[in-house]
Amino acid sequence: MSDNMFKWEIDGDGILTLTMDDPSQPVNTMNQTFFQDFPAIVEKAKAGVESGEIKGIILTSAKSTFFAGGDIKNMIKATPADAAQLTKQLDDSKATMRALETIGVPVVAAINGAALGGGLEIALATHHRIASDAKGIKIGLPEVTLGLLPGGGGVTRVVRMLGLQDALMKVLTTGRQFGAEDAQKTGLIDEVVSADQLLDAAKKWIQANPEAAQPWDVKGYKIPGGTPTTPALAAVLPSFPANVTKQIKGAPMPAPQSILKAAVEGAQLKNIEEATAVETRYFVDLVTGSTAKNMMQAFFFDLQYCNGGGSRPKDVEKKQFKKLGMVGAGMMGAAIAYVAAKSGMEVVLKDIKQEAADKGKDYSVKLEEKALSRGKTTEEKSKALLERIKPSVDYSDLSDCDIVIEAVFENTELKHKVWAEIEAAVPSDCVLGSNTSTLPITELAAGVSRPKEFIGIHFFSPVDKMPLVEIIRGDETNDETLAAALDFTKQIRKTPIVVNDSRGFYTSRVISFFLNEAMRMLAEGVDPTVIEAAGRQAGYPAPPLQLQDELNLKLARKIGAETKAAQEAAGESVDDGGVTGIVDKMLDEYDRPGKLEGKGFYEYNEEGRRAGLWRGLWDEMGAGKVTVPDAETATSGNRLETAEGEGPALIDLIERMLFSEALETQKVVDEGVLMSDADANIGSIMGIGFPAWTGGTRQYIKNYDRPAAAVLPEGKTAEADGGDYPTTGVAGFVARAEELAAKYGERFTPPASLKG
Ligand code: NAD
Repeated sequence: MSDNMFKWEIDGDGILTLTMDDPSQPVNTMNQTFFQDFPAIVEKAKAGVESGEIKGIILTSAKSTFFAGGDIKNMIKATPADAAQLTKQLDDSKATMRALETIGVPVVAAINGAALGGGLEIALATHHRIASDAKGIKIGLPEVTLGLLPGGGGVTRVVRMLGLQDALMKVLTTGRQFGAEDAQKTGLIDEVVSADQLLDAAKKWIQANPEAAQPWDVKGYKIPGGTPTTPALAAVLPSFPANVTKQIKGAPMPAPQSILKAAVEGAQLKNIEEATAVETRYFVDLVTGSTAKNMMQAFFFDLQYCNGGGSRPKDVEKKQFKKLGMVGAGMMGAAIAYVAAKSGMEVVLKDIKQEAADKGKDYSVKLEEKALSRGKTTEEKSKALLERIKPSVDYSDLSDCDIVIEAVFENTELKHKVWAEIEAAVPSDCVLGSNTSTLPITELAAGVSRPKEFIGIHFFSPVDKMPLVEIIRGDETNDETLAAALDFTKQIRKTPIVVNDSRGFYTSRVISFFLNEAMRMLAEGVDPTVIEAAGRQAGYPAPPLQLQDELNLKLARKIGAETKAAQEAAGESVDDGGVTGIVDKMLDEYDRPGKLEGKGFYEYNEEGRRAGLWRGLWDEMGAGKVTVPDAETATSGNRLETAEGEGPALIDLIERMLFSEALETQKVVDEGVLMSDADANIGSIMGIGFPAWTGGTRQYIKNYDRPAAAVLPEGKTAEADGGDYPTTGVAGFVARAEELAAKYGERFTPPASLKG
């Protein structure tokens, strides 16, 4: 079976080792080869067991990973028309897994590398799982993060191994990828041994456990913690859906709820075949639906594009950085210094006063103390990391840096002055990067003598948690500098997107449309609790008024004024929908700039935690004077008695937020600022919290799926129901945008580029 996925070897003790090694790919996946070869090989093994030739089976892999999981390239293409065929394929492979775990001899998974998704599901259909302690090994069922559920027996077996509560909360709805030790603690695997001991350990276990069987095949087996009808579990069960909703913050993501249903319904079925059939049904629903497609596109393909250097000029040699000069040791500089030092780079952290530079380094000291107390690092590693950061007030310390990033105050004149000083100190081949969040790179580059080697390297706060870096190419930036900035980003283990220069670049520009749309709603008199509920239900990780408080209204005023000036200069009409009025009132009349000052749209307690929306929004600013017809529960108690009339429907509020960002992204694309959909999608999800279920701002447009709550205009019938009104894809998006434009203003008019 040389072209087979499984290599077959029987040793002198009758132990069969099946080594998975897909000849057509660098990793093993559940592709056609697997679906063909798996049943055949298990059947052959069964014959060997029956003849007495085979006494035990080891399942392992010849790749650096054990098994990568489902074949995403195939799954993303699945449509509802494929449902029957998909169901059959899954039924067949589940029958094979069942045949493997009931084959009559012990079966051990020798997990030599990552076993994720389908990979772990195969291992779960063995009697014992031993993982190698190889660095970086990952074990888990991350399907939920792609909008899916573990449909290869994963839901059913993990529930039967760990009990409903742990299976759901620790493994299935989190999608967590465990290291080997944590996987063992959680109960997903049984042993961890060194890589060279793996096969020996497997063999020993087989010889010591000739009667091995799955727990659920042993008489008297009960699911740990009981079934949904067990009184103790039945008492907590009603809280599960609410917990799941809380976990996803009300976002319209079907996968977590489907996992919950598959787990609970499956746990009520005694027969494992019936339980896995329930799981299949929910899986097929998800994989043929639009949300899973969006998430597979973003979190698999687009992420791979960005992290794999998709936008990196191809023929530039790779650069390795040794020393970063970080100029400005404030909030951003201090944090950038930390991530660079953590990746092994030397860092000079320069500020004006020694005190400020030292304070910048203190940021790293605190993070390391925390990491030490949590056992996430060692004394030795931590000491070495901190030694790599040198606080300084002296430009001459930058003399041997191969890259400099400037993060001083957001002011062009100051930045020009600082850059003149930096240039005088650094080597002539040092990459010049600015962390400006809004100032055009080309304008800043006018202040340096080497504009070709000048580039924007825009981080997001908090830098140690936010994975994204937006790389901004100025008009003159050359390919070598772009490639170098991407190499630097990779070295510090961040995900880059690449954009061309423009005011606010991509992320800062688009996020302001979301925030402004929410403030327009406030100006219209919509209740702020409803605005926040709409933000959550749209799937934003932070609702808009909360986010605006975090970003601060003073900054909003500054950006708003700059944008307005730029629009006027370009002869564009300026319609701010009352947003300036809201900002002026909040700042000038009520002195409520945001979270930093402890007062904004929200109240804050002494520890700086949110303590409810500010009552003045109703009492002083007239919020709640219009009702939102389909948001009864969210408004209860807050609506003004003097409500003046009916406002927009909740679904309109939700889609106004999403459309405002998607439409602005389209303009950014039309202007040539964004060059790839992958950059747009990843930048929007990872940088500015565009809802993950949409797959990002571009994917949202391309795979638009009109929600049922968005009632069609009178007399129209959807294409899907035999009419001619588009409700999906770009055409569906355009139709809905035109409706929003008619109701709420020209800003929703879809650009010509979408109508082509
Ligand atoms: P900050 O006010 O916390 O820090 C600025 C630091 O620069 C201060 O420590 C200041 O002493 C120092 N500085 C000023 N002049 C200097 C000089 N001549 N030499 C050396 N140091 C000098 O500001 P921040 O929030 O860290 O922002 C810095 C830059 O990063 C700005 O351009 C900002 O737009 C950008 N940025 C900020 C964020 C954010 O969320 N705060 C996000 C992305 C980008």
